[in-house]
Amino acid sequence: MVQRFVELAAPGVRGLHPYQPGKPISELECEYGVSNIIKLASNENPLGPGPRALRAIGEALPGLALYPDGSGFDLKRALAERHDVAPEAITLGNGSNDVLVLIAEAFLTPEHEAIYSQYSFAVYALAVQAVGARARVSEALGLDSPDPYGHDLAAMKGLLSKRTRVVFVANPNNPTGTWVPAGELRSLIESVPEETLVVVDEAYFDYVDEPDYPDTTQWVRDYPHLIVTRTFSKAFGLAGLRAGYSISHPEVADVLNRVRQPFNMNALALVAAEAALGDHEHISESCRINAEQGEFLAQACEELGLGYVPSVGNFLLVDMGREALPVYEALLRQAVIVRPVGNYGLPNHLRMTIGTPDGTRRLISALGQVLAPGG
Ligand SMILES: *Cc1c(COP(=O)(O)O)cnc(C)c1O
Repeated sequence: MVQRFVELAAPGVRGLHPYQPGKPISELECEYGVSNIIKLASNENPLGPGPRALRAIGEALPGLALYPDGSGFDLKRALAERHDVAPEAITLGNGSNDVLVLIAEAFLTPEHEAIYSQYSFAVYALAVQAVGARARVSEALGLDSPDPYGHDLAAMKGLLSKRTRVVFVANPNNPTGTWVPAGELRSLIESVPEETLVVVDEAYFDYVDEPDYPDTTQWVRDYPHLIVTRTFSKAFGLAGLRAGYSISHPEVADVLNRVRQPFNMNALALVAAEAALGDHEHISESCRINAEQGEFLAQACEELGLGYVPSVGNFLLVDMGREALPVYEALLRQAVIVRPVGNYGLPNHLRMTIGTPDGTRRLISALGQVLAPGG
């Protein structure tokens, strides 16, 4: 039997390239025989989960024989209170990635188009392509812009057509760390017809400290075609559990919940997310360290003569000024894992997560060694 199973796959799936995650610590240990590895590759919280989340997980362990609460009643109630929305506006996901995929599955078909920006989060492309919809990718802002590589909302508007069903805006964006101010975002949402959903992905919301940065969860009651996604993976330090959600018009949430797996958020994620939501201390400490270490890292880049994109997230997109893969590999030999972004069309850049004070020091020192003449 000579069977080409790829040819049997759904049309959108045939051309897919799987998401490339950051290299896991265990893999680097095996491959390079190094120890004391520091992972700054996936924008995880370097402080780890907060104490409240850990306690909630411990308390939930004896209950693991039971299925989780498929409706996520308690977590939704806590989120509804936090965002001042009805529980019916919330859709829970196995990470916000899950919610992004649910949006594509529920609203996109091969007859539809989705718009997103060049250099925006890789999952949009995957989700759109998997369902066979057409991706319209707007060119990012130029290097001469104050927001280099950021979303060009005017260009995104220019791609709107009768076929557009979804527009993805990452605010801030990964891997660039760029962001869109309230006025511009509002104007985009208002210029998009109500048959077109605008997804604002706020995975890094808690890190952003800019007066003009909007909390669009508060806009959902004004704009029925707005979907806001959030996650517990970044500032909340729970990436390994997979917990995310969206806030939208209840009717949109109803549609998303029709395609959602009944138990897509596991029992530990449900209780840990609820506990983490109330752990203001852990979030503010995480943000404080991130702001401080982000400055150190940016300053070190300047001293090393490396360009970078100003970031409001917990990571920095650094221009190595040459092919970045050999630098990435040299850093691996120094037991530091960062993220190559050649798959984003940025072969000269590396994305570096901002770490603890010790982690950032080690990253800077490893960079210095790798970039030194003969290093
Ligand atoms: C990390 C990230 C997400 C999703 O993370 P989950 O772990 O699936 O919640 C979504 N959007 C952006 C822009 C991200 O960087």
